[in-house]
Amino acid sequence: MLGVPKESDAKAIRDAFRELALKYHPDRNRDPGSEDRFREIAQAYAVLSDPQKRAEYDRKGSGFPAGDFFGKMDFGDLFEGFPGGFFEGLFHRNRGEDIEVTLEVPLWRIAKGGKEKVVVPVDSACPDCGGSGAAPGTSPKTCQACGGTGRKSTRKKWSENEIVIEQVGPCPDCGGTGRIIEKPCPACGGKGRVRREETLEVSIPPGIGEGSILRIQGKGMPYPGGAPGDLYVVVKSAKDPRFERDGADLWCAETISLIDAVLGTKIRVPTLDRPAEVDIPPGTQPDAVLRIRGKGLPGGDLYLRIRILVPEKLSGMERDLYRKLREISAGGS
Ligand SMILES: [Zn+2]
Ligand SMILES: [Zn+2]
Repeated sequence: MLGVPKESDAKAIRDAFRELALKYHPDRNRDPGSEDRFREIAQAYAVLSDPQKRAEYDRKGSGFPAGDFFGKMDFGDLFEGFPGGFFEGLFHRNRGEDIEVTLEVPLWRIAKGGKEKVVVPVDSACPDCGGSGAAPGTSPKTCQACGGTGRKSTRKKWSENEIVIEQVGPCPDCGGTGRIIEKPCPACGGKGRVRREETLEVSIPPGIGEGSILRIQGKGMPYPGGAPGDLYVVVKSAKDPRFERDGADLWCAETISLIDAVLGTKIRVPTLDRPAEVDIPPGTQPDAVLRIRGKGLPGGDLYLRIRILVPEKLSGMERDLYRKLREISAGGS
């Protein structure tokens, strides 16, 4: 699984693990399943890096009790220089789920920065059953399959290096709660929680990058007797009829007449604050791009694409003048 041969020395294992752990750490990799993958990697590392466990594995070629995997493990030196809490809560998770929401922010707000409202779905204890999930007047029973612990161990084998890991996971019978609800509460359907929407304010830094993720600690799902999860706000630029965003730059388009393109003109162009006066030089070509410095998002420019309108209908006088122009230009070349 770590992609290293059996006889690898400690440093090779450490390097391989470090690389994988960085790739799958849930703070960096938001793909579903990355957290489980990260945990598996950490477990494999726990076996491979401990000479005693390794020797035991090499001798028996079988699984290890899951309970003591992390007891003596010291990840500290491996992740020197990484933010605190890199491993916390991943193995002995007693915190609520993280929530991810997407927030569309208008370009002017991205330019200036400031507060934006975000609506977050959060769970809270069902008022009808007090959070037990059992219909009022009844109470949940202890799960027979796990004896109320909510956890059951399963064995997992990785073919790549033939390590068998005994993994402790949630009990399938009770879903990890340790309790069986025979008569579910009708208000919450036995979940014990009801969902409501909470409006929060988040601070948008000026010029925030497209798709940036703001992490707001403790604003995820609550966890009874534990810490709440975190809220991740994915910031996207709201669609704007006038501008398209390209990093810190903005793009817009204006249409001018054929005569203005030939002779040059001055036009007013919308920007995120007040309109700008732009000189269109004589001889401007279709799809020419003019740069208006400093009028993009912070650190960027506004690019103006020029479209040229060729007249479809001409008055008799205009037609005469265009014909005359043609004669002149034919004669001149
Ligand atoms: Zn309920
Ligand atoms: Zn159970």
